[in-house]
Amino acid sequence: MSTESIRDLNDAHIINTYGPRKLALTRGEGAVLWDADGREYLDFFAGIAVCNLGHAHPGVTTAIQEQAGKLLHCSNLYYIEPQTKLAELLCAVSFADKWFFCNSGAEANEAAIKLARRFWSQQGTPKPEIITAEQSFHGRTMATVTATGQPKYHEGFEAMLPGFHYVPYNNVAALEAAITPQVGAILLEPIQGEGGVRVPDVDYLKQVRAVCDKHDILLILDEVQTGLGRTGTLFAHTQSGITPDIMTLAKGLANGVPMGAMGCTERAATGFSVGSHASTFGGNPLSSAAALATLNALLAPGFQDATNEISEYLFEKLNTFAGDCASVVEVRGKGLMIGIEFKETVGPLVGALQESGVICGPAGPNVLRFLPPLIITTEQVDKVMSILTTCVGALKW
Ligand SMILES: *Cc1c(COP(=O)(O)O)cnc(C)c1O
Repeated sequence: MSTESIRDLNDAHIINTYGPRKLALTRGEGAVLWDADGREYLDFFAGIAVCNLGHAHPGVTTAIQEQAGKLLHCSNLYYIEPQTKLAELLCAVSFADKWFFCNSGAEANEAAIKLARRFWSQQGTPKPEIITAEQSFHGRTMATVTATGQPKYHEGFEAMLPGFHYVPYNNVAALEAAITPQVGAILLEPIQGEGGVRVPDVDYLKQVRAVCDKHDILLILDEVQTGLGRTGTLFAHTQSGITPDIMTLAKGLANGVPMGAMGCTERAATGFSVGSHASTFGGNPLSSAAALATLNALLAPGFQDATNEISEYLFEKLNTFAGDCASVVEVRGKGLMIGIEFKETVGPLVGALQESGVICGPAGPNVLRFLPPLIITTEQVDKVMSILTTCVGALKW
């Protein structure tokens, strides 16, 4: 089918929540994508930080094919071997002692919110209130959109869930001032993604952890976007030398197969008991096999080092570019989660880059966001930088 006929079919039958688009992508390999009309693109967005290993990764493809030929699904009424292996590996490489599997980032955060509330209820000291940050993004279910500290996502969906409070991000004093005996959890992103690729001060998470310890509050870190090698380490929080009580993962976990997970300490895990939470699809044989293959590839010797080398190379190029372009306000981010803030609205630039064969996206009105697969090469970086320079020049920025 041509792009045009796919668009017509879309507009006739799909609820218009995503707005008009230009491309229909049909095939990928590594960091290269092709559209329905056969045009080639360099992928610097990875389906919003999902395809960290690139497209059609042989290890993940084989794992999916093999599992599909054995058993796709059986529900959690039965033990699931790939799910148990995945949980064992996730425990080995993180602070977490126990895991719960679901199908998306919103669901992982939903599970974390429910666990925190039920934990304090089980302790006999209910503390249902949760503090989150302004400009945060935690998902689109009622609980997670309430947790999301951006009024534009609440509009029209009132009444929001009770018990959520918002504080400015990267401000420990404001956080501490918002604490009452009713607050049982603090939910934060280690780096804010959708909110504009905002990197907090180096000691922010450490101070937040100290506040949580002082007031006996559960720290929930939403690593849905920052996790799985995206920011220079497998999980972003390890760079702050702290551990949360609960962590959520999704996006990059199964390299494109829908998958979410919530990991927590042994203590926090006591908040759930038989029957308190469940998911029909969560951690099913297919998504677990895909996640296990993905995680094994991310953990392969030298993989993260190579990612960090290419990140350093890309930042170097971007800083040089920023020095030559008067409309760049700031280049920020970590690893391959990068925001380039411009004085202008970046919509036209995203469009121009796409026209020229580079796929990336915005993070708020003025920030261009790069989330490439972690396997990009220096040649691909050079090509994107040259196209970026041309596009910005053509816009006379
Ligand atoms: C994308 C995202 C979510 C929501 O994930 P979905 O899979 O779209 O539900 C939650 N938190 C963060 C930080 C995200 O980037």
